[in-house]
Amino acid sequence: MRGAVLMLLGLFLLPFLSPMMSAQTTNPDLQELNRMAARFAPTPIRVDTSGLNLGDRQALGKLIEAARVLDTIFMRQLWSGNLATYEKVKADQTPLGQARAHYYWMQKGPWSDLDENLAFLPGVPPRKPRGANFYPEDMTKEEFESKVATLPLDQQEAAKGFFTVIRRGAGRKLTIVPFSTEYNPDLQKAAGLLREAAGLTSNESLKRFLNTRADAFLSNDYYESDLAWMDLDAPLDITIGPYETYNDELFGYKAAYEAYVNLRDDAESAKLDAFSRVLQQLENNLPEDPQYRNAKLGTAAPIRVVNEIIAGGDGSHGVQTAAYNLPNDERVITQKGAKRVMLKNISEAKFRTVLIPIATRMITEKSRPDVSFEPFFTHILCHELMHGLGPHQITVNGQATSPRKELKDLYSAIEEAKADATGLWALQYMIDHAQELKLTGVVRTGEAAERQLYTTFLASAFRTLRFGSGDAHGKGMAMQFNYIVEKGGFIQHPDGTFAVNFSRIKQAVTDLTHDLLTVEATGDYAGAKRMLGLGAIKPNVQAALDRIKSVPVDIEPLYTTADEIAPEPGAMKKAAAKPAAKKKATTRRKRR
Ligand code: ZN
Repeated sequence: MRGAVLMLLGLFLLPFLSPMMSAQTTNPDLQELNRMAARFAPTPIRVDTSGLNLGDRQALGKLIEAARVLDTIFMRQLWSGNLATYEKVKADQTPLGQARAHYYWMQKGPWSDLDENLAFLPGVPPRKPRGANFYPEDMTKEEFESKVATLPLDQQEAAKGFFTVIRRGAGRKLTIVPFSTEYNPDLQKAAGLLREAAGLTSNESLKRFLNTRADAFLSNDYYESDLAWMDLDAPLDITIGPYETYNDELFGYKAAYEAYVNLRDDAESAKLDAFSRVLQQLENNLPEDPQYRNAKLGTAAPIRVVNEIIAGGDGSHGVQTAAYNLPNDERVITQKGAKRVMLKNISEAKFRTVLIPIATRMITEKSRPDVSFEPFFTHILCHELMHGLGPHQITVNGQATSPRKELKDLYSAIEEAKADATGLWALQYMIDHAQELKLTGVVRTGEAAERQLYTTFLASAFRTLRFGSGDAHGKGMAMQFNYIVEKGGFIQHPDGTFAVNFSRIKQAVTDLTHDLLTVEATGDYAGAKRMLGLGAIKPNVQAALDRIKSVPVDIEPLYTTADEIAPEPGAMKKAAAKPAAKKKATTRRKRR
């Protein structure tokens, strides 16, 4: 799930924004609305599809259309008045009307994600409804709960299920309506497109996923197709269906429709395979007391690296997703585990739009050229792999337990920092032992590679620190940053910019990795608290961070390749982003 992603993998998904990034909403004027939109830098999303065979290329057109159908369903899911209001806004030809329509499309509703979901135009609910359009707008939590308590068990399950909405029936009684009924015409359309695509591709695993998912849209039973998605391994990679429950702020029960139509990245997949083969050797050498090492690692959860062609629905509003973990159905996870999908080109777009401008302001001039995408993305891959290493089953006071159970509320922050630090440590280890690990040609070695690795990490640290230490990710990063500064691994120059001190950085990262692994291995809650106590942003760092306020928060994706392959008909046509005179770039990052 993306929540897991947020908290656990969080590279690029930082949802919590510090006040400095939020705007005054509730009926902003044209200038203010343009300022709000400029936090997202319009970025063409292009993918080379020339490697696809003819059948897959034709199938791709159908899948792009299906993704767009999910925009419509998602907008219905957010608010009952959503689609009608959007049509009205689009019809307003004044500059303010057009600016509203543009921002509306970016948000897929009249509320601004980055501004606490407050409305940005009049005549709509002042804030996004907590229960979205999954429940009657006038229903309270108490009414739902007392109604559910009267139901037989299977009905209780349905009421709280991912794939139903709650409506008022005769006599205002709450009734349960399956998605397959509620969104029937749109789901019929999407299912038809998936079946057409299934008929065009020759890849068996894709065929099977598309056909079972089309059935699921109409039967409301997603189990088979979730299993088929876990087995999907095809050049054309797709995720489409109802998944994340964040839009149900009332209970977190109801899934929103989203789609990602992707192309598998074979080069990165090969790199990942090579890394996967040396995980046990990395575990055997982790900088921790050898008694904590795991002599036999379990099978790692599958990771796919892809390039996104188009995203739709819940997958395409506000801050863009750079990685996701699915499915969320526990029955599928128990049987097949979950899969992480990493969107490489989206990461790269964020890197160019957010990280480079940050580096320009925060990194010494001499080191700036070392900030580069390859080490950035490779570190993200390693971060993900490192979640599988280190302590998982531990013993505390003679009892078998886990770091998650012992570190409780602090676990996510510690585990994320562990994955960051261990990822750096592992990359250095692979550089140092490339030959013996048979990684020559897979990892770049030599002094330049090391410089790029640490300098890029330093630049990306600022991207996270921007969110302030009130945010869990910001706090975890501030802890790592301060720890490394104390050990002399990062230094600030008189002009306020930062650089890596290469005579100290390796030892600093090794020590940090050691301390985080040890806190986990011993389930040391007090130790975790002490470490996270380092997570305050110092005044000199805050002063430096003030320089990156104008850097964009994220990208606004323009699906160039998708629009070329499957030109959009007029019907649900979005208000096009005008590639306005490029203002000072300002993006913000996403989390890894
Ligand atoms: Zn993570």
